Amino acid sequence: MNDGTTHSDDGRIVVLSGPSGSGKTTVVDRLIAAAPVPLVKAVSATTRPPRSGEIDGESYYFLSDQEFRNRLAAGEFLEHAEVFSSGYLYGTLLSELQRAWQAGAWAFLEIDVQGALKVMQQYPQAVTIFLKTPSPEEFERRLRARGTETEDVIQRRLATAADELTLADRYRYIVINDDLDRAVREIGDILRSQETQTHAG
Ligand code: 5GP
Repeated sequence: MNDGTTHSDDGRIVVLSGPSGSGKTTVVDRLIAAAPVPLVKAVSATTRPPRSGEIDGESYYFLSDQEFRNRLAAGEFLEHAEVFSSGYLYGTLLSELQRAWQAGAWAFLEIDVQGALKVMQQYPQAVTIFLKTPSPEEFERRLRARGTETEDVIQRRLATAADELTLADRYRYIVINDDLDRAVREIGDILRSQETQTHAG
């Protein structure tokens, strides 16, 4: 990948995964706000319906199943996955990478483990971070505390999280979200050290 013919800033990708009760969204919002390095969050496309308060084009690009599949067939996605066996598709559009790189920033992808593995194959230099809760019990507590999902969905998310944990060691970094400020600082430190290496290399 890094054959010396590309601009050194192209290809800068950060992938963050973690179970949905790991506090990922809060960590991501805090990181973007703190901007330890220039970051542009890639807005994913999904076929799931918007939750209340979610904005099309900001939270996600909300697409119909047909539209998603058409764009998939047209080769517009870097990766895609069906998440939680829910029948809903999620994917990262290649145009989102370009948007970040044109802004001179890292493309920040918050995606599931299946998607992350595909990104690692295509961009082995990607900085991959797995966010963990301190314990499975704490994870379940946080998931239930949100109160947004049915029991059936919670059970599926717990099962998915257990599967995902077995793949956590494929990531370059594992960060434990025991304390929000500390986790955000740790990820910020990782990104700053990578930024230095990228520019030095
Ligand atoms: P939610 O429906 O709660 O917003 O997201 C569910 C899951 O989908 C999360 O685990 C999130 O990481 C994952 N996800 C969101 N966007 C993408 C994407 O573009 N690609 C993949 N593979 N997973 C995604």
